[in-house]
Amino acid sequence: MALLEGKRALILGVASDRSIAWGIARAMRREGAELAFTFQNERLGKRVTRLAAEADSNIVLECDVANDSAIDHAFGELSNLWGELDIVVHAVAFAPREALHGDYLDSLTRDAHAIAHDVSAYSFAALAKAARPMMQGRSGALLTLTYLGAARAIANYNVMGAAKASLEANMRYVAAALGPEGIRANAISAGPIRTLAAAGISDFRKILHLVETMSALRRNVTIDDVGNTAAFLCSDFAAGITGEVVHVDAGYNMMGMAMT
Ligand code: NAP
Repeated sequence: MALLEGKRALILGVASDRSIAWGIARAMRREGAELAFTFQNERLGKRVTRLAAEADSNIVLECDVANDSAIDHAFGELSNLWGELDIVVHAVAFAPREALHGDYLDSLTRDAHAIAHDVSAYSFAALAKAARPMMQGRSGALLTLTYLGAARAIANYNVMGAAKASLEANMRYVAAALGPEGIRANAISAGPIRTLAAAGISDFRKILHLVETMSALRRNVTIDDVGNTAAFLCSDFAAGITGEVVHVDAGYNMMGMAMT
C-alpha cells in the first residue's frame, strides 16, 4: 500500500512548478493522497489550477493567510467538500524584499518585522486552529517549512530568520496543544532551493554554491528530496514524531569544518 492511501491533504504555497509545495504535492499524490490546493490571489489562480489538475485535483481555493476571514472561508469551503482532513502543508512565507539584504538593523523596520512574522509564522498557528475541527479522530499531521536562518545568523536572511524562529516555536506549541487529540505538527528545515521566494534573497547563488561545496553530501537538495520527507512525516509511518525540525539539507547544518 502507498504511504498516504486514503488521506486528504490541503497544500498551501504552490506558486510554480519550482515551489517546494509542488515537490511535496507530487510526492503526496504519488503516495496515494487526495489533494486540495490554495492560492493567495487571482494573479496565481490559473497557474495553481493547472498544476492541481496535474495532481488529479480540482479543489483550488483562494486563501491569503494574512487574512482571518479568507482562512475561515477556505476551510469552510473545504469542510463542505471533504468534511474531514488529514494533512495540512504550510509552505508560505513573505517579508518585504528591502528587508532581505544588507545589515540587519539598517534594513529592519517595524512594518517589515510585523509582516514577516504575521505571514510566515502566525499563519501556521492560524491554519492549525482552522484545521483542528476537521482533523478530529483522523491522526492528522501539520507540516511547515523552515530554514537554518532560524537558528543561525545568515547573511541577508535578516528578519525572515527571526520569523522562522517564531515559526519553529509556533510549531512546537501547536504540537503540544494538538498532541492529546492525536494530531502531530512538524517542520522541515530545507536547504536552499531556487524558487520564486528565494529570488528575493540577495546573493542566493552564493548560498547555493556554499552548500554544494560544504555540505556532507556535496550537493544541493531538490523539491523532490523535500517532498519525499514530507510524505513520510505526514504518514502513519511517522506516527511517533511530533514537534520536530527535520533537516533536509544534504547535511549542511551539522558540518563544523568541511574538508574540501
Ligand atoms: P515559492 O514557490 O515562492 O512559495 C512561496 C509561497 O508563499 C507562494 O505560493 C506565495 O504565494 C505564498 N505566499 C506568500 N504570502 C502569502 C499569503 N499572504 N497568503 C498565502 N500565500 C502566500 O517559494 P518556496 O521556496 O517554495 O517557499 C515555500 C516555503 O519554503 C517558505 O516557507 C520558504 O520560506 C520555505 N523555504 C524555502 C527555502 C528555499 O531555499 N527556497 C529553503 C527553506 C525553506 P504568492 O506567490 O502568491 O505570493
